[in-house]
Amino acid sequence: MRVRLAGVGHSTIDIVGDVSLVVWLCGCNLRCPFCHNWKIARNDPALCREVEIERVLERLESARGLADSVLVTGGEPLLQPEATAAILSKASELGMRPVLESNLTIPEALRTVLDLAFVNEIVTDIKVPPEAMMGLSPEVARRAWSSFLESLRIAVERVPRVTLRLPIYPGELRRRDTYLARIGRYLEQVRSIVEPRLESGECRVEIVAVETEMVETPVPPAELQRIIETSLGLTEGSRHEDRGRRH
Ligand code: SF4
Repeated sequence: MRVRLAGVGHSTIDIVGDVSLVVWLCGCNLRCPFCHNWKIARNDPALCREVEIERVLERLESARGLADSVLVTGGEPLLQPEATAAILSKASELGMRPVLESNLTIPEALRTVLDLAFVNEIVTDIKVPPEAMMGLSPEVARRAWSSFLESLRIAVERVPRVTLRLPIYPGELRRRDTYLARIGRYLEQVRSIVEPRLESGECRVEIVAVETEMVETPVPPAELQRIIETSLGLTEGSRHEDRGRRH
């Protein structure tokens, strides 16, 4: 099996508290306006190449004992579900925690991965409002949002830990009330799915500003975080303060 790959490397920032081995897979079905890895998402030939999966698995073997976890990210790993599952399975076999970072908009591929591999944690963004945050036409973004909710249901049922991050679009923040009204019904939909996990403390939520323009907002970050945590029904125990790097 061949896999389209941008690279493999050690990181101490992608999963806070872990030394992780990060595998970046190429291609993405979204075009988020804040994308940190847009060249990987767009399959830039200067970065992306096809390699045999065995080469990636050998790289994991060489990291045995040197990393706590293996993070498969991108781009969107679920565009290559069999390769993603093979890498995550190898991580478990080698005693490293398997972690998947995904936009969770391809539920059938998520099922495939979870049928083939154990995943200890899924990290994803709540991209709201979807028509502004996914980089797609409004109609396609609405369908992608439905797929996200379906995938989120699968994730909270089958994966021990789910980390949700809320990217914040700085332009929206200048009109706080309008912004909160726009995202409110989406957060409520997310809350209805993850609430049992929030109560058990197994679902972590992280508030992330996506650009440094955040400092220009009239809303202090702490206040914004409190408002959004309240919207999501977060308790003290379910809140998570760690911040890894976003993709
Ligand atoms: S932020 Fe993630 S989901 Fe969005 S375009 Fe970039 S790689 Fe894809």
